[in-house]
Amino acid sequence: MTGHEIRRKFLEYFKQHGHVVVGSSSLVPADDPTLLFTNAGMNQFKDTFLGRETRSYTRAATCQKVVRAGGKHNDLENVGVTSRHHTFFEMLGNFSFGDYFKVDAIKFGWEFLTKEMGLPADKMFVSVYNDDDEAFAIWRDVIGLDEKDIERRGEKDNFWAMGDTGPCGPCSEIHIDQGEGTGCGRPECDRNCDCDRHLELWNLVFMQFERSADGTLTPLPKPSIDTGMGLERVTSVVQKVTSNYETDLFKPILNYISELAGHKYGSDPKKDISVRVIADHSRSTTFLVGDGVLPSNEGRGYVLRRIMRRAMRHGKMLGFEGAFFHKVCEFVVDFMKGHYVELADKKPFISKVVTNEEQSFSRTLGIGLKIIDELLEKHKEYKVISGEDIFRLYDTYGFPVDLLTDIAEDAGYGLDTVGFEQEMQAQQERAKKSWAGSGESRVADIYIQLASRLSTEFTGYDSLKEVTTVAA
Ligand code: ATP
Ligand code: MG
Ligand code: MG
Ligand code: MG
Repeated sequence: MTGHEIRRKFLEYFKQHGHVVVGSSSLVPADDPTLLFTNAGMNQFKDTFLGRETRSYTRAATCQKVVRAGGKHNDLENVGVTSRHHTFFEMLGNFSFGDYFKVDAIKFGWEFLTKEMGLPADKMFVSVYNDDDEAFAIWRDVIGLDEKDIERRGEKDNFWAMGDTGPCGPCSEIHIDQGEGTGCGRPECDRNCDCDRHLELWNLVFMQFERSADGTLTPLPKPSIDTGMGLERVTSVVQKVTSNYETDLFKPILNYISELAGHKYGSDPKKDISVRVIADHSRSTTFLVGDGVLPSNEGRGYVLRRIMRRAMRHGKMLGFEGAFFHKVCEFVVDFMKGHYVELADKKPFISKVVTNEEQSFSRTLGIGLKIIDELLEKHKEYKVISGEDIFRLYDTYGFPVDLLTDIAEDAGYGLDTVGFEQEMQAQQERAKKSWAGSGESRVADIYIQLASRLSTEFTGYDSLKEVTTVAA
């Protein structure tokens, strides 16, 4: 079964069970400043869950474009490392707005996976929220699972929340054990191991509360259902490949990149990571630009810029000399426009935006990477890049600190960020002093404002978390 067929089968299955098939919403959440990017299928139904909006239907199914880079659900660091996390992915979901609840949600999920997808029931296990005896009993008595295959887990895994505020509730997740020889392979690897072996496929959320800013949980008008399953993950299991990148949803992109770089995929693990990172980031870039996000120094645009520049750096590691990333994004448009028809018209625009970013960043990247090589050599004894050197790279060459962090961490180095901040402050002091008493106070003020704006910009580059808390 192809990935496309799985997507279609999912939507058809739920249609047959009374669900209205609704299109994906944009990656930029409509009227929701609490959210950086659309991070789950339920986002577009948030107000329906909260009872602030009514719809003509009480059951829906979607295949939603999702980006998880920044905000509460941030998988940027996992990309390329795990076989199952992407920055952009397609989330299949079925929803009940005060219609069916736990019993049917569990029955639908189980039936779809075991009957429609033909997955082996004996390899699957589920989790429920600690004190959710009701869900536990449904899995045992209605579905017939053995108690040992129903795990009770805590808040981190089994209480789902869209963000710090909004709809939330206990959840039940369906996992599959991909078997020995997959994942980390350590003898102590078990169902709680964070590797790829015990793969989480589907999360069934029992939406029951609205969390307010002070943490209070208020019951929703009607208990509802929100589910999410990564299309790439279910496809990997159905296609028996143990990595999302090996599915037919990804493989052609990997092949294209490898061919373009003259690299034989599978021949060099480090380069293979770069191919996967570029493949992942080309999808998020294509879809984000397609939904109107442009690279910039703050908020959503900053996260996009960070993704794009990271892809470009991995391009260098693969040996690309000139601009290449726009070509990969063009390929993604052609490859995915079958289902995402909106991409086709936007192809020239996406290509232009990516090309511009490549051109404006390529010089900085080239010079920066050379200097970083020297810095790694210089600090090889203690493996910490000094604050002074970080500052020079940032101040003189405009090299983004987060990218330096990525590179240093990959090489097993740390960064003296305290020293860096001291350098930044010292620079501001110098700026102030050089103007003090000159009599041109108005000009001095402007200069100080400029200097402090520069330091605000740095905060953006310093850590994605800070940016996203500002934006989220
Ligand atoms: P994980 O524990 O694997 O990080 P999660 O619990 O954070 O996943 P949920 O928020 O429950 O994920 O999202 C619902 C489903 O979406 C998951 O069960 C999984 O199939 C899929 N999914 C989640 N994050 C990603 C990702 N970064 N890339 C691809 N699929 C994902
Ligand atoms: Mg996660
Ligand atoms: Mg999880
Ligand atoms: Mg989950």
